[in-house]
Amino acid sequence: MQKIDTAVIGAGVVGLAIASELASRHRTVALIDKNNSYGQETSSRNSEVIHAGIYYPADSLKSSLCIRGNRLLYEICKQNSIPHKNTGKIIAATAPEEEGELEDIYKHASSCGVPDLRMLTRDDIRKLEPEINSVSGIYSGSTGIVDSHALMSFLFRKAESRGCMMLFKSRVTDIEKKQESYQININSEYSFEAETVINCAGLGSDYIAEMAGIDIDREGYRISPCKGEYWSLNKKANINRLIYPVPHKQGPGLGVHITLDMEGKIKFGPNTYYVDTRSDYSQDDSKHGEFYESAHKLFPSLKYEDIAPEMTGIRPKLQKPGEDFRDFIIRHEADRGLAGFINLVGIESPGLTSSRAIAEYVSSMISDF
Ligand SMILES: Cc1cc2nc3c(=O)[nH]c(=O)nc-3n(C[C@H](O)[C@H](O)[C@H](O)COP(=O)(O)OP(=O)(O)OC[C@H]3O[C@@H](n4cnc5c(N)ncnc54)[C@H](O)[C@@H]3O)c2cc1C
Repeated sequence: MQKIDTAVIGAGVVGLAIASELASRHRTVALIDKNNSYGQETSSRNSEVIHAGIYYPADSLKSSLCIRGNRLLYEICKQNSIPHKNTGKIIAATAPEEEGELEDIYKHASSCGVPDLRMLTRDDIRKLEPEINSVSGIYSGSTGIVDSHALMSFLFRKAESRGCMMLFKSRVTDIEKKQESYQININSEYSFEAETVINCAGLGSDYIAEMAGIDIDREGYRISPCKGEYWSLNKKANINRLIYPVPHKQGPGLGVHITLDMEGKIKFGPNTYYVDTRSDYSQDDSKHGEFYESAHKLFPSLKYEDIAPEMTGIRPKLQKPGEDFRDFIIRHEADRGLAGFINLVGIESPGLTSSRAIAEYVSSMISDF
């Protein structure tokens, strides 16, 4: 049976970043994905925002990996001409009752080390974004956008040029622990062995952890898929920064916000609701009113007929409905008898922003083996 050093399961942005990092250090690395190419799931169905790390608890991986990942992502984009834009973002209070929360967010983010933040008055916002309705706000100068497809294409080429084997149309169907390696079964047809396994299978990452023998309910690894839909503006508007509402303290999302893509297209979303399936990306007109109401609060000249359904994505959330914040799980499972097995589960937002910092973190875990 063929034996390799490292198997990376899942060729989304996180798997690509890890594979490109490890391929230069390990003799044989294979990147495995069930789809026929990389980045066919969550990594190409998101807002493409380079987050600053404003909202996460101070001692969380989401906070530290987002703040570091932000810097590393700008760096890789600048050095390799990957399309991106440091647009900046405004968190806009639309009613005086929201201003207390705005202050709390500002203090929290500053204490976490988020750079380039400042409070904005109504006049400041009017000067920056005349189309936006707001009583006050926070400006985040390190927020931006990135072409996620170009980023993944760059990481794919880098991993491949460093000798990483690419196994597409290869669904991992079983994992068996051997004495000093793991036997990985592909498509229930053939298998190979890997000394180290890195599970970054996104919406399938809990199932991969289960294949390795982890009780995903007892350990809190089971994913609760959570859909996010976008609508887009079908005309031009003079909005040049990302505009977010003040998030409600309860609930798993940030509220429908206004984002831009690299072509300048304006999108509204994503909304946030739990679903039963992990692969249904369909979208219908039923949320037209809900999106219009949310977007209109921030952007008063918007008309009902100005927006149309755009796309959807599904978050691999660990936080179940009604639960509190859950952090990323990034864990070497040696204490569960799985030496050399690293799980990454619940890599929802800010996973794109954090992708290079996650790769660095996983790589340092492997150096400790
Ligand atoms: C609506 C939405 C908006 C978001 N906005 C942002 C944002 O603006 N900024 C940001 O930083 N983050 C954002 N995110 C989060 C970000 O998109 C994810 O954190 C990131 O894409 C996760 O990448 P990944 O590589 O872990 O997962 P994925 O891209 O899902 O890749 C996992 C891969 O694993 C493969 N796989 C699964 N099971 C198996 C198996 N059994 N065998 C083989 N392969 C398998 C899949 O085919 C898939 O290709 C958003 C997410 C959503 C849903």
